[in-house]
Order: sequence, then structure tokens, then C-alpha cells
Amino acid sequence: MKRLSVIVPCYNEEENVRDFYDELCRNEDFFREKQLGLEILYVDDGSRDQTVSEVKKLHAQDGRVRLISFSRNFGKEAAIYAGLQKCRGDFVVLMDADLQDPPSLLPEMYSYIEQGYDSVATRRVTRKGEPVIRSFFARMFYKLMNRISRTEIVDGARDYRLMTRQVVDAILAMTEYNRFTKGIFGWVGYETKWLEYENVERRKGETKWSFWKLFLYSLEGIIAFSTVPLTIASVAGVFFCVVAFVIIIVTVVRKLMFGDPTSGWPSLVCIIMMVSGVQLFCLGIVGQYLSKTYMEVKRRPIYLVREEIGGQELEG
Ligand code: UDP
Ligand code: MG
Repeated sequence: MKRLSVIVPCYNEEENVRDFYDELCRNEDFFREKQLGLEILYVDDGSRDQTVSEVKKLHAQDGRVRLISFSRNFGKEAAIYAGLQKCRGDFVVLMDADLQDPPSLLPEMYSYIEQGYDSVATRRVTRKGEPVIRSFFARMFYKLMNRISRTEIVDGARDYRLMTRQVVDAILAMTEYNRFTKGIFGWVGYETKWLEYENVERRKGETKWSFWKLFLYSLEGIIAFSTVPLTIASVAGVFFCVVAFVIIIVTVVRKLMFGDPTSGWPSLVCIIMMVSGVQLFCLGIVGQYLSKTYMEVKRRPIYLVREEIGGQELEG
């Protein structure tokens, strides 16, 4: 019997934990037909509400439910990493707790794995129900990202993915601290089948992503998967040297031919302001990479577990 692990990162999802379980169990016939043993791994990312006790209730009811609870909020990327590390399935699927990743797609996804794909990913083709500005910036981000990074990052890709053990192990081999999962999926490669579906709105509760959080997250993605911004600094340096050289020649020639060196200091002030602005900007870019490197070399753990329930019988 093959085993399927479902990994569900949860942060303050008390209202959704049970709904998710019920919805997933609608596929029970499919699991039986394919002889798939199920393991449902809720990763509680330091929730402050009743998420943990909700999961414990489910565990008491159904031994296939497991819980890993973090000591604080480490972010979804850390929750995904923990889930992948702790799960024992031959196939692994990542799903949001808010039912934005419909479990009803599972049979179709699994059929592609049977056909020999290593990984089945999903992307939403619409962004219905999302603020217009957010969609706009999201599109811009993907365009920019794909231009400056060699790793392919698909617009609208969700973290909803079914993978074989081989792919999971590849992802686990990437032990970096700054985990930009969308980039990591693209980086490992493998035969990936893309399924498309219409955006589904969150069932209950609020999204955990503010615009500002998303903005910082996108910067993180760029820094983690591209070094093009560093090149910008060098290019800007060369550009300003060339401009300076031309101005020197113009000034000398003008002095020799017309006896007029240059007039006034406003132009000088403007030049100094602009060039120092560019310098600070480039220094900032270098600083971003340096700070990421700093966090990376500290080799801090990606997450800390406070409590773990279920799954002991799977060890070994
Ligand atoms: N999540 C998490 N840790 C966080 C933020 C979110 O584990 O710090 C989980 C959350 O519980 C949900 C999933 O990640 O299951 C997606 O979060 P959300 O629905 O808020 O994001 P959106 O769908 O709006 O992008
Ligand atoms: Mg959501």
C-alpha cells in the first residue's frame, strides 16, 4: 500500500481545520480505490487561536491526523519545510487550510503522477476576488522575476502541489534559510504537469498577507533567485564614469575655445545629489545581499517544534 501525505500549514485557522478535513475526506472512495494510505499533517505555525486544540480533537477522532506545532510563527515557508521533513508518504501534497486549494482536484492530479509525471502543480488563471492593485503588482513581479532570474517562476502558481518522494527529497536537500518556495520548486525541475483552475476565495477567516508583507516577500524572492540587482550597481558605476568623462572634455574644450569654464554652483549641487543618491541605492542593493548572507551563515534552525502528535507508528 502506498502512502499519501497531505501537508497543511495553518496559522490561526481554527475555523478551517475541520472544514478542510471534511472536504478532504470526500475523496475517501478515491483513496480506497487507489489503495492510498492517508496521512494528514497539520503544521501549526504558532497560531494564537484554537487551531492546535481543533487539530487535537481531529486526531482523537482519526489517527491519520498528525500535528506539528511550532514554538512561534515562523512563516509558511518554514511550515512547508517542516511538513516535508516529517511526512512519510510516497506521494506528498501541499494544501492551504483555507480551502483555496480544492481537494476535489486530487484524483486528477494523481492520475498524472500515474502517467509518469514527477510533480503536478496548479496555477490559478484568474485572480477573482483580489484587490486590483495587488493583482497588478503581482503580475509585474512575475514579469520582472522571469526576466532577471534563470529559475522559472510561473505567474499565478500556487503552492498546491502533488509530488513524488524523489522531488520531496530534492527539495529537502535545499537547506537554505531564506526559503522562497516558488523558486525552489522551479529550481529543482523534474517533469511537472500544470493544472489550471479559477481562483477560489478563502472559505473563512482573513488572509495573512498584507500588501506590505507581499512586497517584502517579493524582494526576498528576487534576492534569493537572482543576482541581477548586483549587476545594476556595476552598470550604474560604468555609466556615470562615462558621463563624467564626457563632461570633463566638454568643460576643457569650452574653457580653451571660449574662456568660460562653467557657471554657477546649482548644476554642481544637482550632480552631487544625484550621484550620491545612486551610490546609496547601489550600496543598499549590496546590503540586501549581505544581510541575506549573514542570516544564511548563522545556520539557525528553520523552525522549532513545541509539540508533535501522531505519526510514531510510521517511524522506521
Ligand atoms: N500560513 C502559515 N503561516 C503564516 C501565514 C500563513 O502557515 O505565517 C498558512 C495559512 O494558514 C494558510 C496558508 O498559509 O493555510 C495560506 O495563507 P493565506 O490564505 O493567508 O494566504 P493567501 O491564500 O491569501 O495567499
Ligand atoms: Mg488563502
